[in-house]
Amino acid sequence: MDIAIAGAGIGGPAAGAMLAQAGHDVTIYDQFAAPAPVGSGLVIQPVGPNDTPGLAIHRSALFATLHGVAVAAGVKVVPGHKVIGAQAGRLHFEGGGVADPADLVIDASGARSTISPLRARDLPHAAIWGTVDWPDGCGLPVDELTQRYRRADRMIGVLPIGTLPGETTGKAAIFWSLPRDGHEVWVRCGLDGWRDEVRALWPEFAPFAEQITEPAQMAMAHYSRGTLRRPWGEKLAIIGDAAHRASPQLGQSANMALLDAAALAAALEHTDGAAALRLYAAARRWHVRVYQAMSWAFTPQYQSDSRILPVLRTGCFIRSVACRRCRRC
Ligand SMILES: Cc1cc2nc3c(=O)[nH]c(=O)nc-3n(C[C@H](O)[C@H](O)[C@H](O)COP(=O)(O)OP(=O)(O)OC[C@H]3O[C@@H](n4cnc5c(N)ncnc54)[C@H](O)[C@@H]3O)c2cc1C
Repeated sequence: MDIAIAGAGIGGPAAGAMLAQAGHDVTIYDQFAAPAPVGSGLVIQPVGPNDTPGLAIHRSALFATLHGVAVAAGVKVVPGHKVIGAQAGRLHFEGGGVADPADLVIDASGARSTISPLRARDLPHAAIWGTVDWPDGCGLPVDELTQRYRRADRMIGVLPIGTLPGETTGKAAIFWSLPRDGHEVWVRCGLDGWRDEVRALWPEFAPFAEQITEPAQMAMAHYSRGTLRRPWGEKLAIIGDAAHRASPQLGQSANMALLDAAALAAALEHTDGAAALRLYAAARRWHVRVYQAMSWAFTPQYQSDSRILPVLRTGCFIRSVACRRCRRC
């Protein structure tokens, strides 16, 4: 089949690589001027109850891997094309251009998709994210995500993400929780005040915070929540954040985009047309719903103005750590 994909983030190149390896002719269109990842670190976590640790990496490491595999499989990546819609197997671009007709369009253009009918609900809390060098001797573990909270309205995190492609210096993704409309106030209050606040909350964070000398080093990320009931249409499959969105608290969204891509590729191996799209949707339905429900239930324990939920969260953690240490049951 001729397959046109909108978006070369995580799900797009993953789907493209698997479909090209299966013999399809795949072209990915992205709005970026040249292939490049947006953002900082993320965790790829195993799905389901098991003891396998998650893998924390910089987005560019995942991006480089997925793009390398996609291009090696014969996928064409076309930058500089902002998609404004899709109709009957044809992508429409800003400026009036239209792609050649495809047998299937895959919408992998993420949370700001112009194709997906998903209307997600904005979440009241957001976060600023940055990437800094891992400070030698800082005392924090290099193989764990460490977070500090004050109730659920203050959250600082340090995620060790290894090295960037082609570099040798260890990096950390750092994040700080803000209300959805809090970025302007954070910039206005100045970095000195912020550093004083984070130092008071968590002294070990100081060598990370000191590397932030310009507000622009910390990028604002907004979150939203929503799920498409039917992630497909005429000659159209919708995957990743374009089909379902959640806050990153459970660290599963990138995984979900990869699993969508794998489910779609597997469905197209078995059958084609609307039957394949129905099979894809059915394969993903329950996992997506369960994850979205868990994200809805747990996110306010980590980011909210509630005074009760953080107490429950802390109680659960103490109990789960105590249980793991005692191992009697
Ligand atoms: C701050 C932050 C931290 C996160 N941390 C984690 C984590 O720890 N673990 C985890 O699993 N997930 C995390 N996530 C979520 C994860 O990043 C997303 O779920 C994942 O990137 C979704 O992949 P995707 O392929 O659907 O979309 P994206 O990766 O967003 O890719 C979309 C692509 O489409 C392109 N595009 C967008 N609009 C258009 C258009 N109109 N025309 C053409 N191209 C377009 C973009 O340029 C981009 O390349 C985090 C998200 C954020 C914001």
